[in-house]
Amino acid sequence: MAIKEPEVLNPFTQAVTQFDTAAQRLDLPQALRAILRLPKRELTVNFPVRMDNGRVEMFTGYRVQHNINRGPAKGGIRFDANVSLDEVRALAMWMTWKCAVVDIPFGGAKGGVIVDPRKLSRTELERMTRRYATEIAGVIGPESDIPAPDVNTNPQIMAWIMDTYSMHHGYSIPAVVTGKPLSVGGSEGRMEATGRGVFFVAREACHVRGIPLEGARVIVQGFGNVGSVAARLMHDAGCRVVGLADVYGAIYSEHGIDINTALRYSQEHGSLKDLPGTVAMDSKTILEQPCEILIPAATEGQLTGRNAGRIQARLIVEAANGPTTTEADAIFRKRGIAVIPDILANAGGVTVSYFEWVQDLQHFFWSEAEINARLERIMVRSFNAVREKCEDQPNCDFRLAAYLLAVSRVAEATAVRGIYP
Ligand code: GLU
Repeated sequence: MAIKEPEVLNPFTQAVTQFDTAAQRLDLPQALRAILRLPKRELTVNFPVRMDNGRVEMFTGYRVQHNINRGPAKGGIRFDANVSLDEVRALAMWMTWKCAVVDIPFGGAKGGVIVDPRKLSRTELERMTRRYATEIAGVIGPESDIPAPDVNTNPQIMAWIMDTYSMHHGYSIPAVVTGKPLSVGGSEGRMEATGRGVFFVAREACHVRGIPLEGARVIVQGFGNVGSVAARLMHDAGCRVVGLADVYGAIYSEHGIDINTALRYSQEHGSLKDLPGTVAMDSKTILEQPCEILIPAATEGQLTGRNAGRIQARLIVEAANGPTTTEADAIFRKRGIAVIPDILANAGGVTVSYFEWVQDLQHFFWSEAEINARLERIMVRSFNAVREKCEDQPNCDFRLAAYLLAVSRVAEATAVRGIYP
């Protein structure tokens, strides 16, 4: 489904452009601009893995820490054939702003390995993960940098990373990663947290924009851990989910798709393809169908200068990281389509990661109801803070408002700590 168009900007260039716009508006001093434009640390690792057939293959991975002035670096690890250093840099920078916009005490990081994990056996995947974890073991840790799941990684992979890191130390260190299985210090509610956060923010945004949830047409691009949960919660709230896309294609039904049936079907068949009662569509065309709420929940660069003029949604909620290019953003602004930016919309995942880390450090675990209630409070509070900032500022949209809040928090921490030595 990843629609990679030749004119799609380099994600890091896009991330820096977004930062520059906020820095300009905040009139940030030169020194702070220079510091915050660049990632603090970048680690590239090339490492061998023995495949099941005895051959040794080399893999390339990254871990980038953008900023750690507000707390330890935090951010996921993705396993994807399209991973690049610039993509990981952009994602690390977005994590810094994301943690700041919801005001949790973390900096930003991201990791990735260039691999299509579907081409590895389970044992190859485990060996590759453990070797990558070993290669980055010098920069991660419960007090320094805490990975989590991202595209194509999951609780099992987090358990292998936690185990590898713990074996090196001789005792269990669950707080080194989040998004773990419950049996090894994972948190209730973490699996659903990103999608649940997307739902809370979408609900608040609909309220502000005067879009009744009941009957609102929703299109969700991406049916993984984030998109499927967001779609289910929107459906449960009375929305009519008319379009869904997964990695294999898209399905559409004007009358609405029953999400529980779609979830079951996708589990049984491995994709949504040919779900009865729906028509097949390509993943690009689905984005352009009439709807009130469009939720891109796949990868970067899906809404571009090419298709932004044809999007028919009234509200776009960015469940993915970086789905909208700067060019598309400008078109949406002109057309009066509100965009709830990724750094706010998908911050539910890292918020519950924060809860998981706190629970691991305290060895004291909370109930799912408590976690969901705390998540809702943080998402609603953050949405309102962004909305108020947006209303206060001339010529402001939700993305700029979220950046103004986030960048000023990180800049303040950076300034007050000063420049060493
Ligand atoms: N990968 C997720 C994100 O992009 C979660 C990161 C985390 O929990 O640390 O926000």
